[in-house]
Amino acid sequence: MAVHRTQQAAFDARKSNEKIFQNQGDSGRYYVAMTLEEYWSRYLATGIRCGCELIEKDKPCHLFIDLDVNKEKYPQIDVNQIWVTLEKHIDFLLTEYREIPMADITKQLHFSSNAKKGSMHIIYQIKGKIFQSAAHVGAFMRCVQQYVDEENESDAVIFDNRFVDMGIYTQNRLFRMLGCTKYGQQRYLTNGNDLTFQNWSGNLVQPLVNDADIIPIAEPDNSSPRYSSGGTGCSGITGWTPDCVAPLLEYIAEKHASVTRIHAFPMTFTFACNLATKMCPFKGDDHSSNVLYVVINLVDFSYRVRCHSSKCHSRAQPENNLPGRKFPEELKPAVDEFLNHAVDIPAILPDAAKCAPDLPIVCE
Ligand SMILES: [Zn+2]
Repeated sequence: MAVHRTQQAAFDARKSNEKIFQNQGDSGRYYVAMTLEEYWSRYLATGIRCGCELIEKDKPCHLFIDLDVNKEKYPQIDVNQIWVTLEKHIDFLLTEYREIPMADITKQLHFSSNAKKGSMHIIYQIKGKIFQSAAHVGAFMRCVQQYVDEENESDAVIFDNRFVDMGIYTQNRLFRMLGCTKYGQQRYLTNGNDLTFQNWSGNLVQPLVNDADIIPIAEPDNSSPRYSSGGTGCSGITGWTPDCVAPLLEYIAEKHASVTRIHAFPMTFTFACNLATKMCPFKGDDHSSNVLYVVINLVDFSYRVRCHSSKCHSRAQPENNLPGRKFPEELKPAVDEFLNHAVDIPAILPDAAKCAPDLPIVCE
């Protein structure tokens, strides 16, 4: 039996009836290509349980979700509650928009929590249907995120705080399997049933052979599904507020409404801030669910009021072509000082420079 040090070597050796797994042992990580029965009897049945399945790129797979809550940072948050919040939106989009009967959906829930971390994996098995690839699963989850942002502002916190890991929809993703734990830990994923071959093999994300129909999926902007880059993508940083921005938020609260959520784009020194108001100046009336937001631009010391509603994008012309509104001059020195010094940014994201400042949170 061959053990491979690289993914490519495992792909090269793999036969058509074999699946690729990654294990971790005392000598590090390695890949194997084997049938489900072989993997079960050689590893899991003998207690070697630090395994991931490799979700091959461009091959059909089930909808898979990874939820993580750092309990030391968020002691009051229960991962089950994150799941309950997310589940209703996913189910709504699958049943209402994809017209999949609820009776056709089976959800496999895997838990592996301890005192420090609340963790869950969820795999959706849909009768006779499957996603074309992990990129399509990612695109669907981005549609879920946009839907929650637009329609259920208060639930958006599950994405903002990264309790839902949106970075997992990459090429050849490794995903920990039922009955397995991270190396060096004893935090085994369990679904409450005995770990048998049937239980384990019935809980994989990617089947070896597929005869199910592909569910048509597009990105939220209707483009073709794309893989995540492995980082958090073009999403900016939620919650990061440099000291000089705090007085600007107070000014906005005084003039407009208080800021409920801030999303920073450090490469462009812009900050998109949701407001606690649905009163829309472009519509001239309240929205039922959309809230207003402002985009702060530190470089020209200005801000613009914007609306999440797609209908308002055209209504807001020519307003959006005018220069932004200036903040009071007395707040400027602190901003200038901030701009003129090297900034310690919590996380520079690879694609952040390419992002239009308000792109990710505008709902089309
Ligand atoms: Zn509006």
